[in-house]
Amino acid sequence: MKHVNESFTVKTSKRLEIIDITNDVEKIVRKSGIKEGILIVFEPHTTAAITINENDPDLFEDLLNVYVKIAPIEQRYRHNLKYAGVPGEQNAHAHIISSLIKPSVTVPITNGRTQLGTWQRILFIEMDGPRTRSVHVKVMGE
Ligand code: ZN
Repeated sequence: MKHVNESFTVKTSKRLEIIDITNDVEKIVRKSGIKEGILIVFEPHTTAAITINENDPDLFEDLLNVYVKIAPIEQRYRHNLKYAGVPGEQNAHAHIISSLIKPSVTVPITNGRTQLGTWQRILFIEMDGPRTRSVHVKVMGE
């Protein structure tokens, strides 16, 4: 069995933002030469997340609007009170959303290609930007 590990960065430009990273990920899968296996896309941050869904800027707005209904940015959070005055730490909403959506997705690889559906894209979710984020990709198989 072969393992390929690669990372890339995502520069976000807003507090809340969704970025399609499918092309970066599929480039790594093609380069790996792995035909049958599994792909893991993982982000190592506590205030971001990764999901799979459709690339539609209006849907991105809808998703972000629902996320901040679930965990409003301006709300009394113990985490924010503890870090009052610490720059960049008024972000409990982002921790909560990150923990609900999760930091990774797994996709099967068959015949050298990801088995994403026609409308499925791998989406990076920024909840506390703008920041430079890392994404780790692991491809395993043969
Ligand atoms: Zn925090």
